[in-house]
Amino acid sequence: MKFCSYCIVDGELQPIIEGLGQVESSCPVCGKRRAFIYDTDVNTELIGYFNELLEYYTPESMLPPDFPAEEKKLLVTELTDRWHIFNTKLNPTDVYRIMRALCAEKYGSMPNLFDAPVGIAELNDIEYLKSRSLLRSNSWDDFVESVKIQNRFHTNHIELDILNRYCSFIRKVYKKGTAFFRGRISPEEGFPTEEMGAPPSDKATAGRANSAGIRCLYLASDLDTTIHEIRAGVFDYISIGRFELTKDIVVVDLKAIDHISPFFDGCDFIINKEHLRRINMEIGRALRRSDSVLDYIPTQYIADFIKSISHEGKPEYAGIEYNSTINLSGQNLAIFYPELFVCTEVEVYHIKELRYDKERL
Ligand SMILES: [Zn+2]
Repeated sequence: MKFCSYCIVDGELQPIIEGLGQVESSCPVCGKRRAFIYDTDVNTELIGYFNELLEYYTPESMLPPDFPAEEKKLLVTELTDRWHIFNTKLNPTDVYRIMRALCAEKYGSMPNLFDAPVGIAELNDIEYLKSRSLLRSNSWDDFVESVKIQNRFHTNHIELDILNRYCSFIRKVYKKGTAFFRGRISPEEGFPTEEMGAPPSDKATAGRANSAGIRCLYLASDLDTTIHEIRAGVFDYISIGRFELTKDIVVVDLKAIDHISPFFDGCDFIINKEHLRRINMEIGRALRRSDSVLDYIPTQYIADFIKSISHEGKPEYAGIEYNSTINLSGQNLAIFYPELFVCTEVEVYHIKELRYDKERL
């Protein structure tokens, strides 16, 4: 069976297929023209990678009886939804056919890995999780409860060495001169540039990435996200400051978690991916009016830890980048050292209309 490098979106595997240099006029699976082809009748380069990943999966019939039913999925679903290995344009039948042809020998010996639900046994192995999981054997909710109501500064519900290691996988460099935006609801005439930055320590209120009293500059990637994030009301005037980076920096890009290949870090990433995704989601989550400032504490704890990571005596990361949950296409940046940016100009906007989106509960 033939498929192409466009059928696969995994960052480790795609270059391997392209490196084979076999270009054909079109891919028989996805239809891509002038495609780099992998032919399972001839090529063997990917077999080892998939066999290694399949080692982590156990067929339903061999899983322990207490393995949670919701964690049992078809292999095809795992490869697309959990691992993002295949292009979302491929349908499950295409993925199944590719896997069966690619791992023909494995299919011969263990067809139920491909044809019946499977699970990752380690996800349910308390002893294994204790040593290898970011949250040890705890759930995210256990961690939240521990820092909110038990022990705020010295919780033992999280393995910080593991968090440190994953931060190094999702580093992102920003060059001097890169621009981001910050908005404030303002009078009609707007604020001057010097009033657009992060408040001083004595006025710094708590946020997702900072405790009260600790300065943090919250920026957004674009104008639309900025307006969504400040949650302006209809007819409000808002001042939007353009902030320019004054030197090269490195941030932890939590959004990049989805793009870490399972072939890059093996089983440890397999058991930690969901925890890391949760951190990205929680840090970007909008607070509802009924929420308490205590709800910020879990992500403040993680942000403070990331801020404390140093290399050769200097802070390693200048901030955290995460998805905006209010404007799904946007990104936010929480900068630990507000002086890294300078506000170069301010524009005033008037909110003419708001649109509400709803769903019936
Ligand atoms: Zn293709």
